[in-house]
Amino acid sequence: MRMISLQSGSNGNCIYVESGDVRLLFDAGISGSAAEERLAHHGRDIRKVQAVIVSHDHGDHIRSAGIFQRKYGIPLFVTPRTLSAAQGRCNLGVLKEIQHFRSGSALRFGTVAVHTVPTPHDGEDGVIFIVDNGSRRLGIMTDLGHVFSDLGRLIASCDAVLLESNYDPHMLANGPYPKYLKQRIKGPRGHISNREAAELLGPAFGSRLSWARLGHLSEQNNSPEVALRTFQEVCGSSPAVGVASRYAVSDVLEV
Ligand SMILES: [Zn+2]
Ligand SMILES: [Zn+2]
Repeated sequence: MRMISLQSGSNGNCIYVESGDVRLLFDAGISGSAAEERLAHHGRDIRKVQAVIVSHDHGDHIRSAGIFQRKYGIPLFVTPRTLSAAQGRCNLGVLKEIQHFRSGSALRFGTVAVHTVPTPHDGEDGVIFIVDNGSRRLGIMTDLGHVFSDLGRLIASCDAVLLESNYDPHMLANGPYPKYLKQRIKGPRGHISNREAAELLGPAFGSRLSWARLGHLSEQNNSPEVALRTFQEVCGSSPAVGVASRYAVSDVLEV
């Protein structure tokens, strides 16, 4: 199994995963042309993607789902509540190929199972994903709300993970955001911090986990250097940890 992060952050999210002849996208928060170009950079054809599976209704995860479908023929997999909330939030345009799933259920694509796990984030009916091809498990885990009780065990059950590391508490407290937004981000239905991500990853590296990418970094309240420094303070330096960029496509990462 391989993962390519096309983009990760509050400015838009889109993650590509392939295993055998199964090709999936997780979230549709970047433009169709950006997704097409970033996949082509690694020799992948967006028209061969079989599904885009959306985590929740926030625009940075779903805004281009209609374009992905109309321009590239990619069916949209979404929960009914997420879809109706998203249609009230952003203009998705005409949607023809919709496959509904229930949060907490598993989707099956050939030999690949995609397990969905509900989160306490303030999106509508939000989920995170574990992609399992029978031998390897990849977690795609952002917009977490808070460190909920099962999260550490789920991360430790994966071989690799893209994990939210949204903000540095000091930068958030001293940054330009209005008070209500600061409260939302650090509150129980917002995002998790660099330290919380590091404290989750430490024990998981002693278990099954072999690499991690820190993702969904805030522009204003974080930086790749600060997120990695916090990880090193908590867990020590590790070549197995990097950052998924807000602006650029990642390498092809083998799970
Ligand atoms: Zn988000
Ligand atoms: Zn969100």
